[in-house]
This record gives sequence, structure tokens and C-alpha cells, in this order.
Amino acid sequence: MIDLCNVELFNNNFKQFFRIVEKQLIKEYGKDIILKVIDYPKNIPFNHIHSKHVNKVYATTAMIKTITQFRLKLSFVMYRCKACEKEFGREVMGELIPYPKVCPDCGGKRFDIIFEDSKYEDYKYIKLEEPLENRTNKKFVEFKGKIEGYLASPFYNLNAGDVCNLIFTLSPVIDKKNNTLDTILDIWHIKPVNMTDSEIEISDEDLSNIIDYSLKPDLLDIFSKNIATNVVGYESIKKGLTLQLFSGNPYANRPRENLHALIIGDPGMGKSLMLNNIYEITPKSVKANGAGTSKAGLTASAVRNELTGTFELEAGAIVLADNGQLILDEFDKLSHQVMLALNEPMEDLSVTISKANIQQTLSANTTILAGANPKNSRFDKMKEIGEQINIPASLLSRFDLIYALTDDINYDNDLAKAKKILSNQADTGTVVLDPLFIKKYITYAKNNVFPKLSKDAENYIAEFYARTRQLAINDDAKPLTTRELGAMYRLAIAHAKLRLSDIVELHDAKVATDVYTESLETLGLDYSTVGSIQAVLSNNERNILFFMEQLIKSGEYSINEIIDMCVEEYDAPLEKVERLYNKHMKDLK
Ligand SMILES: [Zn+2]
Repeated sequence: MIDLCNVELFNNNFKQFFRIVEKQLIKEYGKDIILKVIDYPKNIPFNHIHSKHVNKVYATTAMIKTITQFRLKLSFVMYRCKACEKEFGREVMGELIPYPKVCPDCGGKRFDIIFEDSKYEDYKYIKLEEPLENRTNKKFVEFKGKIEGYLASPFYNLNAGDVCNLIFTLSPVIDKKNNTLDTILDIWHIKPVNMTDSEIEISDEDLSNIIDYSLKPDLLDIFSKNIATNVVGYESIKKGLTLQLFSGNPYANRPRENLHALIIGDPGMGKSLMLNNIYEITPKSVKANGAGTSKAGLTASAVRNELTGTFELEAGAIVLADNGQLILDEFDKLSHQVMLALNEPMEDLSVTISKANIQQTLSANTTILAGANPKNSRFDKMKEIGEQINIPASLLSRFDLIYALTDDINYDNDLAKAKKILSNQADTGTVVLDPLFIKKYITYAKNNVFPKLSKDAENYIAEFYARTRQLAINDDAKPLTTRELGAMYRLAIAHAKLRLSDIVELHDAKVATDVYTESLETLGLDYSTVGSIQAVLSNNERNILFFMEQLIKSGEYSINEIIDMCVEEYDAPLEKVERLYNKHMKDLK
């Protein structure tokens, strides 16, 4: 082992160093040697790469934007002189085929290449850009790179969208057309950071573990306590997000089974921590930030390939996350135009590109988990969601689950939360799952279990839907719509998948309606009162209204007395009680 940081040639001309070492090794061992450079410590941010780094070795992290098919290049070429038939060879560094000037024997100037005695190597061009999650505006750095040898072989699995650690030298190349310098990254090693679906191997032992677990009665509880463990509390939200992880059918787009979720969070409520943790345990996930994402970066675009001159499709985040999850924080910072471009992928799970004679539909069987900040930096359960967030209503309705993280003040909850943070421990009795096991479990369930609704489950959800709409019949109320019906259907399927059951049972349907109504509660909504009272009320407001109604019906008090009594009983502001009275009770008597 040599500490290469201190070797001068290594630092000043790595290419040459690399070849010398490789040659030496091949000479010594007499066969092909693959030299790998791994875990190099000189790490720089991708967007800091510049002229200072030319011909030196650094490590960085970047995302693969595009990757070409493999190309063939000569690594060693044999010539035959056309005049005297002398055969001689030489090493090849670049991709171009070099020709010798004169024959060393007869001075002849024309040669044939003996292809069968030459040696070849694979290489590929890749385009690298700043990882989506690091972008804070729409300008970001992009570099061309070249991988060779085993890194370009079919056995080394690199895909567009992979976020990778890489070791490279920044090399100048001459742009012959313009006679200027261009740059390329010579990549000595590249390795995806996140395991993708195809790399998660499930052994027989794993499978028997997975099946053992699937029989546990409190499965949703166990899983939800093992996700977003870095954020205390929010049990009901974690249940919804757990079911989201199991949602989606990799083999079918219709009817949509993917559950899209949106978390609206006051700053400092742990929303981003939660999203990061979900990102880490999702088998295939892509992370992006709304503030730095363009329409092309989110969906797809047609661009001219500088190397081949033809138009090619470049996948954006939602296409890259096909059959996985897209974690999109700061969703509210996407431009209106970019948000509208999400209507198609969120409902039809595809992206259609029509540009430059290209009309193509790409699969985007992607589940979206978005995070957003409320407009006034604090979510108010008393107000309509639409008023509080910069997201068009049509797009908001694409989310099956919407949660608000709010700083509710409740003595018992606060006490429990404080104790948990102070002790920094999992709940006693919580089964702790290995994150890799969770990935394997999700991967297995998503790819092997395709539940169908039983009659019982179907009836239960249908009755819940019809009954709840009935509550809305006599008022100016907001009944559930078929959108909510779809969400409950998807939740029930996801819960059956979690149990590895091919049938959606009555129990799955009950969990689905529970998880759904709990998501409404975080918004200050209640399925049973969306029917009788228009819009959004907190539990406290509903209690005040109920109390007020009893007093009015008793006929014993004047309106002013009733308002005073409500203020007293609930310690509520006078203005709020008057508003509630005027809005909901004025016509009663
Ligand atoms: Zn010759």
C-alpha cells in the first residue's frame, strides 16, 4: 500500500502515472490487470471544479445525466507495412487510430492494421451534472466524462439518474472545429451512492425472514415506527408514508396504484428530516429540490447530443425515478409552469415529449413525496388549504394524502415527546428493523404481490364513501369526491401488499379509511364534519359550535350571553366566537 497523495508523479500527471503502474503490473504478472482507484480522500464539490484542477486527481459526487452505448477503441494496434510486410505495434492512448509516419525497416509510408492482432477496450461517454438535491437555483454545472475498461463493460451497472462518487482528473481536449479547449473528466472510478432496485438481492434467508414478518398482526405499526425515526411523533403521518412506500405497481399504470403524498410543514417541524429519512430507506429514490428544478429537469426534454448530432431524450427527475419514489422538497418553490407539467405524470404515470420531430411517451411510474412550506410560514387549521399554499387546486387534488405538520400544544403529547427526545431512545417495545431489511421487504412486496379487492373490502369502502357523502346532503358542505375514493382504494391495496396478501381484506379497507381520515385531521378536517360544516374547522371550533348550539336550543340565554359563555368556557378570543356564530349559527332557532 502506498499513500498516493504524496507521490509527485501521481499528483502532477496522473494519466501517465496510471499507465506506468498498469504496464509495470502487467509486465510483472504477465496478464491483464485492472487497476482501481477507490476511496480517494481529496473531495471537492462538483460545482467547484475549474482550471486549478486540470490533470490532478480529485474525488467528487455527481449525477449521471446521460450515458452512451459502449464504443470500441484500440488499446494496442498492430500494423503491417504495405511495402515490406514488416509487422510492428504500439500502444494507443486516445480514441483516434494513429498511423506511423514511416516504416522502421524500409521507410514505406502506407500501412494496414492487423485487427486480429490488435487489442481493444470498451469506453463510454457520460454526461455528469450536479445532483438534483444540491441545486438551489436553475443554473448548475455539467461536465462530459469518459469511462473505460471494466467501468464501461456491460457488467458494471451504471444508469442515468444514478448519483455517484467518482475519482477523476480534469483533462483539456482540443475542440478541432473551433480550435479552442474543451474539458473532459477522465474517470478512474465511479460508483453509485444509492443502491437501486436491481442491486437489492433477496436471498432465501431474507425471503423466509420477510415471510415471517408479514405474519405479524401489528405490521403497519412496526414499519411506521421504523421510518423517519429522526423525527419524534407524527405516528399517523408515518403510517401514511409507510403505505406510500408499498404503493405502486411496476407492471401496470392503470388503475393508478401509486399514492402521492404532500407534507405541509411549518419550518423547524422536521419535514425535511422526514423526507431525507424516507429517501434513505426507499429502494429506488431520486431527490430533488423545487427551488432548483426546471420543467426539463423534472420531466424530460429533447436535446441535441453534441457527440452524435442527433436529438436524444434526456430524462428528468420523475422519469429517472420510474418505479421508485421522487422526493421533492420545497415543492411550493416550483414555478407554476413546472407544476402544471406534473399533471400528466401524477395521474397517467407518463411524460410526453413533443419537440424537434420527437413525439415520445416515457414511463414515469413514480410515486411522489413532496414537502412544502405554508405561505405564512405557519399552517393554520382554521383556514382553507388552498389559501395557505402556493399550489394550484388541480395539482393539489392529485395528492392522495396531504398532511400538515403543526406545532400543536398539548400537555400529554408534549411531555411524551420531550421525554423521548431527552432519552434519545426508541419507544420501549418497538421492534427495530434494519434499514436494509426494510428495503428488501419493500422490494419483494412491490415486485411480487398484486392484491385484488375482496367483496367485503369493496363494500366497506363504498359504504364509507356513500355514508360520508350523505352527511353533506342538507348543508352547503363539501362532500368527499371520487378522488378520495381512489385514495382509499390505493391505501387498501398498499396495506394488503405490506401483509404480502394477494387479497385486499376487510381489515385492509378499515386501515385505509382510518389512515385517510387521520390525514384529514392533521389539516383540521374531519370526514364526519366536512359533511355538516363547510370548510375547515379545528376540533376546538367544533366543540365551541356544539356548545353554542346547545345553549341556543335551550332558549334560556340571549345571544350576547351565549357568546360570553363560549368565550369563558373555551378561553377563546371574542372575535373568533363572534365569527363562528355569524358563520354557522345565525340562522339557527
Ligand atoms: Zn516496410
